[in-house]
Amino acid sequence: MKEIILAKYGEIALKGLNKSQFEAILVKNVKRRLSDLGQFKITRAQSIVFIEPLSEETDISDVIERVRKTFGFSVLCRCGVFEKDYEDIKTNGLLYLEDELSYAKTFKVEAKRSDKKFPMNSPAICREFGHDIMEKYPHLSVDVKNPDVVVTVEIRETNAYIHAGVIQGAGGMPVGTSGQALLLLSGGIDSPVAGYMMAKRGIHINAIHYVSPPYTSDRARQKVERLCSKISAYCGDIRFFCVPFTEIQEKIKDNCPEELFTIIMRRIMMKIAQKIAERENLSALILGESVGQVASQTMGAIVCTDAVAKMPVFRPVIGMDKSEIVEIARKIDTFDISIEPYEDCCTVFTPKHPKTAPVLSEVEKAEALFDFEPLIDKAVEETEVKLFKAEF
Ligand code: ATP
Ligand code: MG
Repeated sequence: MKEIILAKYGEIALKGLNKSQFEAILVKNVKRRLSDLGQFKITRAQSIVFIEPLSEETDISDVIERVRKTFGFSVLCRCGVFEKDYEDIKTNGLLYLEDELSYAKTFKVEAKRSDKKFPMNSPAICREFGHDIMEKYPHLSVDVKNPDVVVTVEIRETNAYIHAGVIQGAGGMPVGTSGQALLLLSGGIDSPVAGYMMAKRGIHINAIHYVSPPYTSDRARQKVERLCSKISAYCGDIRFFCVPFTEIQEKIKDNCPEELFTIIMRRIMMKIAQKIAERENLSALILGESVGQVASQTMGAIVCTDAVAKMPVFRPVIGMDKSEIVEIARKIDTFDISIEPYEDCCTVFTPKHPKTAPVLSEVEKAEALFDFEPLIDKAVEETEVKLFKAEF
């Protein structure tokens, strides 16, 4: 029996004049994601993308898994495809639903009729189909409030579609509709989540990571690269910039007051990220900070790091509790990698008593004890770039 996926838009359904641009990017994203799963007929109408596999061999659950991680869709429906003729809907539709209806105890029918030429209206479809379901599966009873299965019959332009429940989509806006930004990606729990959240708003993510060999190991870098691949299932291709940071950290250690190490280091990280973002035409930085989580994320510390920013800095997890961030990390499958115990450059030379309420003028004074600019330029120059093709 022929099956199709109806992927329904979320927010872009509300867009006005430029809706078709958003739709075009969404369809392009879907096509790229499915390109190695076979041939498909992909069309769009009425705020729905219709995804029809053209080969019997294509496993539709694989297709759903990919589309489920594509930002821009609120729900997906895996449907059987039928003639717009009640006899076909009844005979073959009842067969199509056999698995779901055999295991359920209660059900209800919903109908959507966007083709008003179809002779039965929605209440009539619900009544008739409900009646026919009970006749074929007499163990079932109707429960309109909390049914085990919601059967939906949709009468649309070319066909009738039937499904037994919707699948939650990823929500958000299609990646590529909101420009590009640079994510400061550590090996921790928070920054991959921050990248995922901004990609969900349609931003194409690039990632930057700072390494300090020999204080940080190659395994630590590989861990971050694996995180990059993980979030690429949602974010698409990611360009990865790896910055050699050892010399700068050593110079901070040798020249600046210990209690300000971390804050000065973070300011220099921001400066480097910003230079690369400007060079690569990326419009904003993204950080995984949450107010008060650690000494470098107090309000005072954020004031000091933000003072070097000349472009918008997005911190999508800023108001979230750790447990809320962890919940998303588990959902996007980054958590288990993030908790692997490799050291990050932020834990190199950490002061025993970091200043939790640093004063900007003091930080600037301390930072001026050494001329970091040439080293910053050198680090930017020696930054390695690597492209992570999306792994779906
Ligand atoms: P995370 O869980 O994202 O590592 P964290 O709670 O450990 O965050 P910090 O170590 O203070 O917090 O880092 C704050 C933010 O700075 C991170 O979320 C990340 O955006 C950025 N960052 C920290 N270390 C690095 C690094 N080595 N490379 C790139 N960005 C980093
Ligand atoms: Mg960290």
